[in-house]
Amino acid sequence: MSYSVTEELPGVWFVDLRVSEGENAFIGAFIVASGGEAACVELGPASTAHKMACAVEELGIDTEQVKYLLPTHLHIDHAGAAGSLLKKYPQASVLAHPRAVPHMIDPDRALWQASVDVLGPLAELYGKPEPVPAERIITFEEGMTLEVGRLKLNVHYTPGHASHHMSIMLEPGALLFPGDAAGCYLPGLDIIIPITPSPFRFEAELDSLEKLISLEPRTNAYTHFGFTTQPRHYMEAQREQLFSWKEIFKEIVAKDIINNNDIFSYLAERDENIKKLLEEAQMGSAFLKETALSFSGLIDTVKDEAGG
Ligand SMILES: [Zn+2]
Repeated sequence: MSYSVTEELPGVWFVDLRVSEGENAFIGAFIVASGGEAACVELGPASTAHKMACAVEELGIDTEQVKYLLPTHLHIDHAGAAGSLLKKYPQASVLAHPRAVPHMIDPDRALWQASVDVLGPLAELYGKPEPVPAERIITFEEGMTLEVGRLKLNVHYTPGHASHHMSIMLEPGALLFPGDAAGCYLPGLDIIIPITPSPFRFEAELDSLEKLISLEPRTNAYTHFGFTTQPRHYMEAQREQLFSWKEIFKEIVAKDIINNNDIFSYLAERDENIKKLLEEAQMGSAFLKETALSFSGLIDTVKDEAGG
């Protein structure tokens, strides 16, 4: 079983869940602890729940001490492990946006089939989420604050990437967990990539980015994948990139480019980030597959705006 845990800030650990062989630096999760209490921020998929649990144990955190499970949104690479982890942590509650609650309780209702339809083979890699008991869900309310020891976790609604997306600011320290609301940031390559799967809401995403910038975080902790101490720079870069990708996708739609490899090539000639990603990422990697899923949201945005 392969994963890694690193302490990034005092009381804040980053777990690389390594969803498959060779697939490191792709899906991360965070553990925060203070005063005998702990929380997991992002949980990873169901298939790596055991790794998350091992990481918590490795830090010497008792199962009774885990108070909250805080996935930023329902997508199964973020919240898929919720049901499995709740079984391990008898005192824990899981946070969910009201829109996500019925799907967490009953993944068979629509979540699993939708995940299979959208993600294809990646859904099998992530695994089918276990149901979450209704009484263990804390339903999100705007401006809510959760306490873990002396830490405060302020939760903000940040739709766009998904209608059930929340971002979490940890204080003291102004450490922001933007989930997928600020794109992917890969420190190793120093690139930023939008995450815009269908149904993506372009204007809502811009509003959410503005909201996150206005919170003035000191550090951003990206689930995909890592930390930066220049959050404003990368969130502003993400905003510019969303605008530029929308223009590029207008051309892609006009030219009727539909094959993902062709779209990657077209983007790579116009965006240095994608060029670097294609040079460095393993072809066929889950990361590239996830990136390709983003195309649909921008294609829909362009078509909707054209009235088509
Ligand atoms: Zn997502």
